[in-house]
Amino acid sequence: MTPEACEIRFLVDSTAARLSRWLRFLGYDAVLDKTDSDAKLLARARREGRVLLTRKRALGTGSRAGVAVPGGAMPGAMLLSSDFVSEQLEQVARAFGLTQRPMARCTLCNSELSLVSRAEADGRVPERVYQSRSEFAYCPHCDKYYWKGTHWEHAGKTAAAVVSRRQKRRRS
Ligand SMILES: [Zn+2]
Repeated sequence: MTPEACEIRFLVDSTAARLSRWLRFLGYDAVLDKTDSDAKLLARARREGRVLLTRKRALGTGSRAGVAVPGGAMPGAMLLSSDFVSEQLEQVARAFGLTQRPMARCTLCNSELSLVSRAEADGRVPERVYQSRSEFAYCPHCDKYYWKGTHWEHAGKTAAAVVSRRQKRRRS
C-alpha cells in the first residue's frame, strides 16, 4: 500500500461545503455529501473510513471522542469551530498534521490525478498554457487537464499559508 492509500480521508457535509474543495487542493481525499440525514452521514463515514467534518453541533460533539489521530485508528466526526473556510482548513490541518501536495487530486470530483507528459497535453490545453507550463495532470473521470498556473498558485499559496501558520504555532 502506498503512503497515500492509507492516508486520512474526509467526508464533508453541506454545512462546510467549500472546505471539501480546499482539502482537495491540498491533495486529500475529501468527499462532499449534501444529504441532510445525520444517520446517513455517520454511516457513510464509518463505512468508508472517513472523518466527518461538520458545522452541525449535534453531529460534531456527539462523537468527537472518536476522531482519528495520525497513526491512530477510529474515524469519527469533528466539529468545525468557524464559519470561515480558511479557519476551518487551519483547524483540520492542525488536528491531522496535513501537508500540501498540489495537483494530486481533482478539485471537482475528488479522483486522483495522473501526471501526464507535456507531449500528451499538446492540443488538449490552450496553446498559451502549453507554451508556458511544464507540469500537467489529468482527471480521467472529468476528462479535464490541470496545470500549475495562476489558479493553482493562488490556491497553493493560501493553503501553504494556512499550513505554515500551523507549523509556526507547533514550534512555539
Ligand atoms: Zn475530476
